[in-house]
Amino acid sequence: MVAAFAICGDLYHTPTRGCLEALADCLIEVGETGRIERMTRADEPAYASRLERADRLIRLQPGQCLLPGFVDCHVHAPQWPQLGTALDRPLEQWLDHYTFPLEAKFADTAYAREVYADLVATLLAHGTTTAVYFGTVHVDATVALAEICLEHGQRALIGKVAMDDREQCPDFYRDADVDAALAATAETIARIRALQPGEDHPLVLPAITPRFLPSCTDDLLAGLGALARETGCHVQTHCSESDWEVAHSAGRFGATDTAVLDRFGLLATRAVLAHSNFVTADDRAIIKARNAAIAHCPLSNVYFANAVLPLREALDEGVHVGLGSDIAGGSSPSILDNARMAMTISRLRASGMDAAVPASKRGAAGTSISVAEAFWLATAGGGEALGLPIGLFAEGAEFDAILVDPGTASSDLRMTGGEPNHDRFEHIVRCARSADLSAVWVRGRQVRNAR
Ligand SMILES: [Zn+2]
Repeated sequence: MVAAFAICGDLYHTPTRGCLEALADCLIEVGETGRIERMTRADEPAYASRLERADRLIRLQPGQCLLPGFVDCHVHAPQWPQLGTALDRPLEQWLDHYTFPLEAKFADTAYAREVYADLVATLLAHGTTTAVYFGTVHVDATVALAEICLEHGQRALIGKVAMDDREQCPDFYRDADVDAALAATAETIARIRALQPGEDHPLVLPAITPRFLPSCTDDLLAGLGALARETGCHVQTHCSESDWEVAHSAGRFGATDTAVLDRFGLLATRAVLAHSNFVTADDRAIIKARNAAIAHCPLSNVYFANAVLPLREALDEGVHVGLGSDIAGGSSPSILDNARMAMTISRLRASGMDAAVPASKRGAAGTSISVAEAFWLATAGGGEALGLPIGLFAEGAEFDAILVDPGTASSDLRMTGGEPNHDRFEHIVRCARSADLSAVWVRGRQVRNAR
């Protein structure tokens, strides 16, 4: 519970895909649950009286504005120490050479706490109010991440990584066997749920987390599918990320990742599928039918994917899509950076990249995304992907918000007073840095104040 308050100022959000709402002097009243109880626009008849009666009112200064909090649908929490490094090898070598040895260190829970506290604070400073985290194979370290998110006030979905295949996973870093993997996953779910007793809408949710098909035996996949059905937990995993991963599933199952995950019951309870660059039209139809979602990770895809997500197609077909930083396959903790990269990649896909090819044949015309679509992916699209009332300002939605403040000494934004409009919105989306985000709220609780 938080004390009820009200906040009044300019705001930008994209409640539906591609549609910007720029509102001047909007009044938002937040209840004790941290949800928005009432939104009153400046041109509504009740505005003056509600503003006068507003309790604990925060008034934004000219030039300041509110954005909905960002949603990061795919983060590897233990890879935080290697951010911005180790991007020189293909995925299958990167895992063995850099990443599994790093993740193995999280057997030391004290080390995990140190890394995770820094990660969560940094993501909040970048405006990430909700994050979907892969932990490691270790139960204690994964539960510690949940505790740290609750301490810092960040909404999160968190999973102990399940990986038991002896051929694919090193002896020093895997579940001992299928039974151990299932028991540890069930224990992690129970312990994370026990951190918030009696809470109808827990801030931190457990997620079932098969690393990806190559690292899991068939028995483990089947067991995790059953556990998802039993517990109703979200599932998170990787899907059709690279040529290597696609070839693995074709050789082992004679099917795509999406079809295999569906076969094992892993798409039934709000699955978040990282990357999905190689999904076919049939795969996308399955993802849509199961109400599952794609976590698009454009920065990471440049280095590891060998291809670009057919984002335009997925969006136009109505598939849920959010953005993921994919730390540390992606080298930025900022979802805004990833929204920019999503725009950039879509532009390159649309225009083509080979100057030796004639312009008329060079790209895939009509596949680029707009600024408002990129922002939607970073906010309301992520909320829809997770099935949570977040990423927009609306009555009943959680008050997860970012205060953009161009008035700080360190700001690079070039905005003065005036009505909110599309140009100012575009300037923020393309140019804002964490230094411009001076306050952050999650569920009505102010979790960062840099003012
Ligand atoms: Zn990943």
